[in-house]
Amino acid sequence: MNRTGKNIPFSGKYKKWYQNPFIRILLLAAVLVVVIIICVNVLNGKNKENESANASFETMAEAESASGDGVPGSDAAYSADAKDADYAVDGGAAAANGTEADAAAQVTPAAQITPAAQPQVEGVTAPAAADGTGAAGVMQMTEEMLASSTETGWHYTYKGMWYSMTPGLCYYNGWQEVDGSTYHFGAEGYRDVGWKRIGDQVCCFDNNGVYQPDASTEKMVAFTFDDGPSQGMDMLLELCEETGARVTFFMIGVQVENGGAVIPHIMQDHCQLGNHSYTHSLMLKKTPEECAADFNQCDEFIRSFSGGYGADVVRFPYGDLTEEHAKAVGKPCILWDVDSLDWESQDAEQIKERVYTLIRDGSVILMHDRYDATVEACRELFPNLIAQGYQLVTVEELSIAKGIEMQPGGVYYDFTGEETDAPFGLVSMEEAAGMAGTEESDGTESTEEPAEAEYTEVPDETGYTEETVEAEYTEQSE
Ligand SMILES: [Zn+2]
Repeated sequence: MNRTGKNIPFSGKYKKWYQNPFIRILLLAAVLVVVIIICVNVLNGKNKENESANASFETMAEAESASGDGVPGSDAAYSADAKDADYAVDGGAAAANGTEADAAAQVTPAAQITPAAQPQVEGVTAPAAADGTGAAGVMQMTEEMLASSTETGWHYTYKGMWYSMTPGLCYYNGWQEVDGSTYHFGAEGYRDVGWKRIGDQVCCFDNNGVYQPDASTEKMVAFTFDDGPSQGMDMLLELCEETGARVTFFMIGVQVENGGAVIPHIMQDHCQLGNHSYTHSLMLKKTPEECAADFNQCDEFIRSFSGGYGADVVRFPYGDLTEEHAKAVGKPCILWDVDSLDWESQDAEQIKERVYTLIRDGSVILMHDRYDATVEACRELFPNLIAQGYQLVTVEELSIAKGIEMQPGGVYYDFTGEETDAPFGLVSMEEAAGMAGTEESDGTESTEEPAEAEYTEVPDETGYTEETVEAEYTEQSE
């Protein structure tokens, strides 16, 4: 038999069976089939993985919304306001585990996954009373807190201080003893400072948050600074830190737009954010609805710098308003009983003299943070008044301590409990129409600074110029 002869498979022609070409072709074909099967399986598996990731995400999201309390998933690191993205990542990771992934892909009812997604976190407890009057609860620290520190002890962001007794957990919404001192933690986990109403009780805490059961509600005044943020605000905040004073800043929206970076600093010093409108125009020239929109615009800018906190109190420019305007704005409207006339004198001696002469227990003092003379006067006023036994507090604290519950749209000159005979403030809609019609009224009807003469001094880069004011007036008087 030669090589080209009839080669019968499995005949004895080849020394080894695998030298037979027919066998070789068969083997090659078998290998190809196996490779194709593997490829198909791998591709199919990938698709399933994706499906299960989505399914897992959906079921966890459902579980979260079904629980209604926003309590996060199993990982202690996930805070109460954990983003959906966290859950998506979570779902993807679970799906990568082969068989688990397949199982998860088939689970659709939220109830089936709820126990796994939401185990009881060890150490988390509810506060003794929902209104914060009982012992504090223990909650998982928020993302913002965790970003600052995960260790035990006292920590802070500009929003306040919190206490972590276990890594990842902190007290909230109630009373708690820490290292021999008594503290009260708010619903967000930050300790209270200053005068607070807790349930029916009026309570006082020093700037370190330590409860002061014997604090007096007498000799209290609220310093208020309008038209900022300005350079003077930084110096006033330093003064607050040095003396322990807490004051209120009524800020103009256009100023906040450029200088709002100071807002976290205001919050950190336990001072109060106030809204002084966006345009600082005479609101009587606007309809109540336009006026409310102006204040809302300012609030939006404040929120963009404060971590979402708006101002709880407003002050109308020039102190003129009607009941209708106040109601439309819907926040307590704060006027004043002591005008330092700092805009007029710009003299520290005269400013101090007026304040020393005019203040009463419960007074609200009007100042402007952008005058050097004002800052200079406060450098003496703050420590001197404190030495005389005065407490320098925010408007909100003053109202709480004096037991005057501020109402939305309510108008408050002071918290003295006495009559205040002011030549400005509430007018009727008819009077407002008359005032809106005369340019003269802008400065003379109010004891606050006249608009145009004063605002020319504000540097252009603050965004607040004479033109802004005039343009506003022209538009409104048409
Ligand atoms: Zn003003």
